[in-house]
Amino acid sequence: TRSASIQKTKTVCTYCGVGCSFEIWTKDRHILKVEPGPGPANGISTCVKGKFGWEYVNSGDRLTTPLIRENGRFREASWDEALDLIAWRLGEIKGQHGPDALAFIASSKATNEEAYLVQKFARQVIGTNNVDNCSRYCQSPATQGLMRTVGYGGDSGTIHDIENARLVITVGSNTAESHPVLATRVKRAHKLGRTQLVVVDIREHELARRADTFLRPRPGTDFVWLSALSRLILDNGWADDAFLQTRVNGLEEFRASVDAFTLAYAEAETGLAAAEIEALARQIVAAGQDKTKGGVCILWAMGVTQQCGGSETSTAISNLLLITGNYGRTGTGAYPLRGHNNVQGASDMGAMPDQVSGYQKVADPLTVQTHEREWGVTLRPERGLDNTQMIDAAIAGNLKALWLTGEEMSLTDANANHLEKGYEALEFMVVQDLYFTHTARYADVVLPAASALEKEGTFTSTERRVQRLYEAMPPLKGTRPDWQIYTAVAERMGQSWGYTHPAEIMAEIARVTPIMAGVSYDRLQGFDSLCWPVAEDGTDTPLLYVDRFNFPDGKARLYPAQYQPRQHTPDAEFDLHLNSGRMLEHFHEGNMTFRVAGLAASVPDTFVEISPELAAERQITNGQWVRLISPNGAVKVQAHITGRVSGHEVYVPMNARHAEDAVNRLTGNNRDTVTNTPAYKDTAVRLEVL
Ligand code: SF4
Repeated sequence: TRSASIQKTKTVCTYCGVGCSFEIWTKDRHILKVEPGPGPANGISTCVKGKFGWEYVNSGDRLTTPLIRENGRFREASWDEALDLIAWRLGEIKGQHGPDALAFIASSKATNEEAYLVQKFARQVIGTNNVDNCSRYCQSPATQGLMRTVGYGGDSGTIHDIENARLVITVGSNTAESHPVLATRVKRAHKLGRTQLVVVDIREHELARRADTFLRPRPGTDFVWLSALSRLILDNGWADDAFLQTRVNGLEEFRASVDAFTLAYAEAETGLAAAEIEALARQIVAAGQDKTKGGVCILWAMGVTQQCGGSETSTAISNLLLITGNYGRTGTGAYPLRGHNNVQGASDMGAMPDQVSGYQKVADPLTVQTHEREWGVTLRPERGLDNTQMIDAAIAGNLKALWLTGEEMSLTDANANHLEKGYEALEFMVVQDLYFTHTARYADVVLPAASALEKEGTFTSTERRVQRLYEAMPPLKGTRPDWQIYTAVAERMGQSWGYTHPAEIMAEIARVTPIMAGVSYDRLQGFDSLCWPVAEDGTDTPLLYVDRFNFPDGKARLYPAQYQPRQHTPDAEFDLHLNSGRMLEHFHEGNMTFRVAGLAASVPDTFVEISPELAAERQITNGQWVRLISPNGAVKVQAHITGRVSGHEVYVPMNARHAEDAVNRLTGNNRDTVTNTPAYKDTAVRLEVL
C-alpha cells in the first residue's frame, strides 16, 4: 500500500527458516521501520535480525555493474556483454566437454521461482543433472532420514503444532540463536507449564540452560543413545503397539538393528548415565500416552546432520517417534529446523542432482513425461554431481564450469583450502550476488543481483509454508533479479522462456509439481500462505500423516539404520574437538549482517569459545589471540572463556569477516555416508597461544 511517498509492503524475512513475515515501511530506498506480522509463523514477534537487520540492502558495498575478469583483473562490463560472454562460454564448454562438464548451484536465499529456474536451466538448456543447493551443507541428512521412514522430507507440522507438544526434545540445535522466534514459542509453552523441555547438546547454549533436562553426550554419539532408547522401549513393552500394528511396517528388522544398543553400551559410548537414558525413555512414553493430546516433538539441526552418520541419526530420530506413536496429531512429529529462509524451497524446487521439483526422481517415467511436455526435453535418468562432488570433479579436471548463485561457498563449504583449489581448476566460473564476495574473487564473471526487497517471489519456510514477498523498492540501479538473469541467458542459448513475472514461473511449477499443484499467487495474497502438499483446489496440509504416511500402502517404514562413529577423535597431535554453528546477531557466514551497523558492532568478528578448564590448563586469558590448527588449515582468533563449552571442546561461530579466519579453513573432507553433507562437526584441532 502507498500513502504519499511512504510505502508499506508485505515481505518475508531473508534470514532464518522460521519464515517470519512483516510489513516493511519505506520511503524511496529508505527503510523506515519493520512491523512484524500478522505472520502465520510469527504473529507479531520478530528477532533482532528480522527487526533491525535490513541495512544490507542499501550497503555501499552492493555491486551495481557486471564484472568480467581480464588478464587477472576485473573490469566493469555492460549486462549485454556479460550475458553474451556467459552464454558463449557455457555453450563452448558444453560443445568441447559435454553437458556434465558444467554445474549449477542455486541459492537458498533466492526465491522458489529462482531455484526452479536454476535447475530448469541445468536440465533443459544444458542437459545435465549437476545442480544442487546449500541444503547439501546442512539438512540433506534430515531429509534422507524422513524420506526413508515417513515419505516426506519436511517438518511434520507447524510451529503451532510444536507448541502443543507435552514434551519437546531438541538435539544438536542451538534453537534460541538459530531459530529465535520458534524458540520463543517453545520457551513460552514451557514457561506456561504446557510442555516439558529436554535439550541434548554438547554445548550449554541458552535453551539448554532453560531445559528441565540437559543431556551432554560425547560428540557424534547421538545415534547410540537414540537407538538405546528404542531398544529399551521395545523390550519393556512401552511401544505404541496399536500404532505399530496399524500404521507401521518393518518392526522385526528394526528391533534386530538396535540389538547391540544396550544401556551399558550406550553409557560407555555416549558418556550419558544409563539412568539418564532410562529416565528419558520413561518421559517420552509418558508424554505420548494420551492420544487426545499432543505428545513428543523432536527438533534437530546441524549438531546431528553435519556428522558422518547424519542421515543415520536422523533416521534413528524418526524411528523413535514411530515406535512411540508420535506422528499424525498436533504436538507430535519430526522437525528438522531449516537454516536459510528458503533452503526448504530450494530443495522443494528440484535444485538437487537426482530430483526435479517436488522430490520427483529424474528417472521416474511419469516425471519424465510431464517434463517432456512442459520443457520439450527428456530428463536424463542418472544422478548428477552434488556440491561437494562438484569441487572434487573440478580438482580432478572433469568439471570445467560452475555457475554459483547467491552462496558464499568460500566461507560456508567445509575445507576452504580444498574448495579454492577446485575454483582455481575451473575454466569458467560465474558468481552472482549482492556483493563482491570472497567467492567472487575466483570468478570470471560477477553479476550484481537484486535483493529480496527488490523483487517478487515466494519463500518456503521450515513449516513447508509458502509465502509471498512483494517488491518494496525497485532493484538498485544496475542490478537484476536472479530469475531475469537466468531467463536472459536461456534465451541467448536458444530457449525462449519468455517469463515476464514470477507468477508465471509459479504457474509452471504448479503444473509440473504434484505437491505444489494448488499453489498460485492469487492464493498467496498478502499474509495468506499454504503448507505443501497443496491439492489442486488449494487445500493445503499444515499437519502431515494424519491418515497416512507418504508411501503407496500409507504405512510408515521403520528403517534399520547403521551407527557411523566419528572419524576424527582428538588425539595427541590434535587434542581438542572443534564445534561450529550460528549465533543470534549474525546470519550464516555474515555477509548480510556484517553490513548492518548495529549487528556488526555487537559482534564485530568471529572468535573461539574455550572452557574455563582449558583456559586454566593453557593459561589463556579472555581476549587473548590463539591459533587453531587442524590437518586442513589454521585460523587466528580471539579466545572467549565461557562455561557454554566444557573440557577440551572449543566452539567457533561460522560467521567471519575475513575468509582467512573462517572456521571452515579447519573442517575437512569427511562426509555423511549417505548424502555427502560435510561432517563439519567431526573435526579435531590443536591450539597455540599467541
Ligand atoms: Fe524470524 Fe528467523 Fe527472521 Fe528472526 S531471523 S525474524 S526468527 S525468520
